[in-house]
Amino acid sequence: MAIDDSSSSSSYFAPWSDRLRHSAIILLVAGLALSVFVATGELGVARAIAAFICIAAAALVPWRLHDAVTSREDVRGVNPVEAAAVSAVVAGMPDPAVLLDRAGRVLHLNAAAAQLAPALRKNELAQFALRSPEIITALREAIATTEPRRATYLDHVPVDRWMELIITPVPVPTLFGGTDKCMLMTFHDQTPLRRVEEMRADFVANASHELRTPLAALSGFIDTLQGPAKDDVKARERFLGIMHAQATRMARLIDDLLSLSRVELSAHVRPDTSVDIVPIIRQVADGLEPLAHERQVRIEIDLPELPVTIAGDREELLRLFENLIENALKYGASGGKVIVSLVRASSADGTPEVRVLVRDFGPGIAPEHLPRLTERFYRVDVGDSRAQGGTGLGLSLVKHIVNRHRGRLLIESVPKNGATFTACFPQAKPPVGT
Ligand code: ADP
Repeated sequence: MAIDDSSSSSSYFAPWSDRLRHSAIILLVAGLALSVFVATGELGVARAIAAFICIAAAALVPWRLHDAVTSREDVRGVNPVEAAAVSAVVAGMPDPAVLLDRAGRVLHLNAAAAQLAPALRKNELAQFALRSPEIITALREAIATTEPRRATYLDHVPVDRWMELIITPVPVPTLFGGTDKCMLMTFHDQTPLRRVEEMRADFVANASHELRTPLAALSGFIDTLQGPAKDDVKARERFLGIMHAQATRMARLIDDLLSLSRVELSAHVRPDTSVDIVPIIRQVADGLEPLAHERQVRIEIDLPELPVTIAGDREELLRLFENLIENALKYGASGGKVIVSLVRASSADGTPEVRVLVRDFGPGIAPEHLPRLTERFYRVDVGDSRAQGGTGLGLSLVKHIVNRHRGRLLIESVPKNGATFTACFPQAKPPVGT
């Protein structure tokens, strides 16, 4: 909504000039009439002058008094802050901003404020146009005390947003040399900040929960081994095996957390070393052969013979393919086969890409889970993930690594027909001169 202020500045000057004109006409007519009386000898000069002074006073004094009173009371139309400069400052503020007089009447508002609260109108009380009780309370308090006020509230229209309102009293110079206490209301969208805060809190809560679970199991088994199962050799062997698995899980979780924070820290720096990803994928697949054997899954590799180079970080790429192939072996084991392949293709904007596909033939993933799979600690089935020694951080790490390489991660799945995870990397530019 555009705010037109041209009318307000002209309305400010109009009453002055109108009234001056009316007074001038009255004085002119009175002057002429008195001159005629003096000329015809019906009135003495001294009396005529006295009469003129009385008429002049009657014509000028009332509206001077009226102005003095109204300027004190901030009556609309003659408010001294109706100045183009103030209006321009409010209009130029990037956040929604509204300038109110001391009674809470809107003097100026910018386009962002009009969009935020479409019911706000110039020269009308802001309290009637604002919905949120938090704003109204803060505004009432600011009006009553002329002190700054802050309020946070949840705005539901057009989407849920956390907004912060700041009301600051501002002394605005008046035409007659004094200052007028106006109030500047500014609104700030706090949603991104809140989201980050929520994510951080969730992350800490999840991480501590994930660590506490194996820790509780470990201390439980230690107690049992020190007490009731002290001399039970069979139980000791079994419990030590479980304790080893729990300790491994904790170590893995800490490892994943550290990797994640390392990748996040360097997210803005794109790796610039040329690496051949074919041997990296082979190394990972070979390393996972024992797991594949244990899960009775065959890993089929379809990779080119020639080197395929991208700008990448070798350690991170090892971690990325390890997570994808291991997930395929763990969650897609029932399919009995995992295919790892590499193809060259182009992205939507025509950039040549190297794509590594990891495909399994397991149960697949229901579509509602796909958009959330790369969130930290998100699992389709928490019990299944824990049973597989998962941390819920693998795909989040994969996504961060792909992003750091300025690539993309695609996840496709047909329930009951497996899942395909594709890591796309921009192809390294050929060396100059080739
Ligand atoms: P986790 O440590 O639990 O494996 P990930 O972030 O690697 O964590 O994976 C998140 C979840 O995505 C897993 O818990 C699992 O439910 C699901 N998932 C990942 N890969 C596959 C796959 N190939 N097939 C089916 N589900 C998968």
